Amino acid sequence: MKNSSFNIKREALVKIALFYPNDFITAATNLGYITIYNILNSRKDTLCELFATDYISKSYNTGRSIKDFDIIAISISFETDIFNLVRFFKFNNIELFSNKRGRFDPLITGGGAYLTLNPEAISPFFDVILIGEGEQAINEMVDEYLNNSNKDIYKENISKSKGFYVPDRYKISYDDIYVEGRNGKPAVCRKRTVENIDDYIPSTINKLLPSHFKNTFLIEISRGCPYRCAFCATPSLNNPYRHRNLNKLLDLINKNRSFPKVGFIGSAVSDYPDLIDLIDKTLIKTITLSSFRVNNVTYNILEKLKKRGLRSISIASEVANERMWNKIDKRIDRDMLEGFVKMTNKAMIERLKIYFIIGFPFENENDIKDIIELINDLSHIYKGRLTASINIFIPKPQSILQWAPYSDKEIIRKKIKMIKRGVSRDVIVNILGYRTGEIETILSRGNRILSEAIALTDRMNIFDALKVCNINPDIFLRELSVDKILPWEFIKGGIDNIELKNKYLNI
Ligand code: SF4
Repeated sequence: MKNSSFNIKREALVKIALFYPNDFITAATNLGYITIYNILNSRKDTLCELFATDYISKSYNTGRSIKDFDIIAISISFETDIFNLVRFFKFNNIELFSNKRGRFDPLITGGGAYLTLNPEAISPFFDVILIGEGEQAINEMVDEYLNNSNKDIYKENISKSKGFYVPDRYKISYDDIYVEGRNGKPAVCRKRTVENIDDYIPSTINKLLPSHFKNTFLIEISRGCPYRCAFCATPSLNNPYRHRNLNKLLDLINKNRSFPKVGFIGSAVSDYPDLIDLIDKTLIKTITLSSFRVNNVTYNILEKLKKRGLRSISIASEVANERMWNKIDKRIDRDMLEGFVKMTNKAMIERLKIYFIIGFPFENENDIKDIIELINDLSHIYKGRLTASINIFIPKPQSILQWAPYSDKEIIRKKIKMIKRGVSRDVIVNILGYRTGEIETILSRGNRILSEAIALTDRMNIFDALKVCNINPDIFLRELSVDKILPWEFIKGGIDNIELKNKYLNI
């Protein structure tokens, strides 16, 4: 890839810099980012080169300056990467707010999971934002640009296509976090979904590309999730759940059999209907998986995976008693968890990681005691090395719990103390920091008012920036009203807001 034959495209009609706001190794592991890069470069009229925080002004591919590009396309998956985005703009002397940029500045476009769930905290930085899946839409974005690259005309034209959100077409007034008035057309933005999932199969494109999964051919086998866990935004983000054709996956995997490992990617890998055939017919010897749901895994599958080199496995319990599993609609129980752990013993899988979430608004001290007891009980059953990963609940936009509050600091501190004291020393316990969750909540439930504070984060932390801008962080952290309009409610195409609201009110 690096220093390769890109010069033959010196005459491309449009040059696109694809920026990922984290280091290059992280960017290159993101299949969405790599797939967009691949699609753009498969066009004769388009040159795309990669940028990341360690290639901030000169491309990874050829060292070409960011100033040479007509379009800067930015892919954002995670909240805290936004701070790197601000640094990218400032480092390259590009005005952060779109209304301060001139006609001849590059067009700044964005896409990715973060922007699809709620772009509003940073929407004033973009000329155009793609809401939803990008594989087909990215070609329309380029075609429209080739039609007319005048920024104003381009924005007017593209705003008529499904999934393209042009923030400066809207005047929005807020009351606290809530939308009081919103003028602009179209009134809603419909999320973009790829029509035929088998037309594009996101996968690793080059063995030489640095990656957190070195020597592993990553391939997305399904998209979305058939479940509806109350805290999770995935069912809305990639609605509906789709899985890829077995033969198409096998074709691609087996063409890449020079890789020593293959990694199946998807939110619900164990729900892939032809999983056994996929494992049996994959010619790459070693197979790794992101995580399993415990409700539909058989010993047969675990045994096959063990034979194919799987040494560690992750599962999510999230909570630890029937009342809480019902509340978050996890659809698992203690028997399933114990049965799964026994199967991993029998299959001799050496490492097991179990995810938990604390800080749900309906959680009490007994629920924490049950988490401790469950971890300790499972550690007695499990013969390998057990890790418990404890995350703090973050109310994500477009999830059932999008209105719920972020937990109080003192209460979380007490619960973490209980867990640290109560869990057996044989178990490795990882706990996500309270502050990180707080920042993620603010950034994920933000509105346009927040953009002023975010713009200062190259010089100070977000809390100091909020103070400077006189913004109370609490408006993003406390429980939100179900009767008012949330900043991201104009996005349609995920799980319907009425369904989310009914479920929330009945928890
Ligand atoms: S937590 Fe996992 S199983 Fe539940 S909805 Fe999200 S992706 Fe699906």
